[in-house]
Amino acid sequence: SEFTALDAQIAAGEAEEEAQLAQPVLAVVGRPNVGKSTLVNRILGRREAVVQDVPGVTRDRVAYDAFWAGRRFTLVDTGGWEPDATGLQASVAAQAEIAMATADAVLLVIDASVGATATDEAASKVLRRSKKPVLLVANKVDDDRLLADTASLWSLGLGEPHPVSALHGRSSGDLLDAIVKALPTMPRDGDRATAGPRRVALVGKPNVGKSSLLNKISGEERSVVDSVAGTTVDPVDSLVELDGDIWRFVDTAGLRKRVNSANGAEYYASLRTKTAIDAAEVAIVLLDAAEPLSEQDLRVLTMVVEAGRACVLAFNKWDLVDEDRRHAMVRELDRGLVRVPWADKVNISALTGRSVRKLAPALRTALKSWDQRVPTGQLNGWLADLIAATPPPVRGGKQPKVLFATQAGIRPPTLVLFTTGFLEAGYRRFIERKFRERFGFEGSPVRVNVRVRE
Ligand code: GDP
Ligand code: GDP
Repeated sequence: SEFTALDAQIAAGEAEEEAQLAQPVLAVVGRPNVGKSTLVNRILGRREAVVQDVPGVTRDRVAYDAFWAGRRFTLVDTGGWEPDATGLQASVAAQAEIAMATADAVLLVIDASVGATATDEAASKVLRRSKKPVLLVANKVDDDRLLADTASLWSLGLGEPHPVSALHGRSSGDLLDAIVKALPTMPRDGDRATAGPRRVALVGKPNVGKSSLLNKISGEERSVVDSVAGTTVDPVDSLVELDGDIWRFVDTAGLRKRVNSANGAEYYASLRTKTAIDAAEVAIVLLDAAEPLSEQDLRVLTMVVEAGRACVLAFNKWDLVDEDRRHAMVRELDRGLVRVPWADKVNISALTGRSVRKLAPALRTALKSWDQRVPTGQLNGWLADLIAATPPPVRGGKQPKVLFATQAGIRPPTLVLFTTGFLEAGYRRFIERKFRERFGFEGSPVRVNVRVRE
């Protein structure tokens, strides 16, 4: 049936989804008491009470958002990882392993007032295998006296030691410059090139009412604004005013002059739909309220979700809907729209103009969600509680651990969970559902990617 076809398409999309990290991850490793937490706080530019004098103290929050020189990255304090290894040396080496597998760059912190210990050497040995950048930090260099000694840390084979005093801030700016230089450049969030009117795709199967709706909006809501100061209008787009805002309806040339169905019309219609979705930030998916959902409708919806665009569902031809049809719809939609329970529904009539204006608030909500970012600290606080209450299912006798999470990107919002094992699709969906319950994201797809430690 059409629903299993959709299921298959979505599953394929999920399999293809790769972690497009817009925000690189930097992990801080080292023995207890070398000053990792102090350094983390120094980098974050605050003095928060995570520093403990007791070695090996468990910290419940491990990941933070950091900025330096215009770069944004996720900073991870591995102190919270508690690897199962017994003994300090094994445990620090295990931390280094996890850091290498999950982060994009690693900081190894050494206490310069002590010098390199056997544990530091064990961690270095692991990190020397890393294909990712590793920076060696010689901490507690509070004054010049220790500076000369740090040269001996070259022997760890991790390149130049960076002497700092995390406590007093000495040389921490230089270290941050080096960090930012070492971090890989990630693809930028989304592809929204410039400011200006937000880009909307008006999509749906043939005869659902796309050109009628566009004409209604550009006619009754006045002004097809081809002459807005400072904007150049791509001739295939339409700038229209709706509810006090200007919107760019993309790729509307084909909608204005209707091409009659000839051979291959459906193929071109579907190609046009794809082009419009790709060019847009948010899609209005037009559905015929008078008819049951069709396979074609679901194909369009799937295209929007897979392209990662925000989405508003508009049930057109509402003027034709009677009581019976309304009842039938409730069941039908529950079933047909299970994959987009987060999308706003607006009932409209392009013919009469009913509720057309209400599309605007739905578009604004969807775009706001699409642009939204949950700070890493907040995300991990919530996730720790969720996982404590409902841990991931055991697989092959092993309980996968979620080490930390970060919202790596927006447009669409993308979560990356760093784990010690595979998380089943069902559990990822559970996390997405709970994430939405807690943080909203109405009108936008949310991606949940998992990076398993190798
Ligand atoms: P962690 O266990 O590696 O996270 O270490 P902490 O950040 O908790 O620091 C351990 C101890 O070292 C604390 O008493 C800090 O105040 C102290 N410490 C951290 N950085 C420095 C530093 O640059 N100089 C000095 N003198 N002490 C530091
Ligand atoms: P498109 O192929 O998606 O661009 O659809 P059109 O805008 O050309 O509309 C197809 C047909 O549906 C036309 O005969 C329209 O007059 C009709 N139509 C569009 N919107 C409505 C509506 O809200 N109510 C009713 N009753 N008919 C509509």
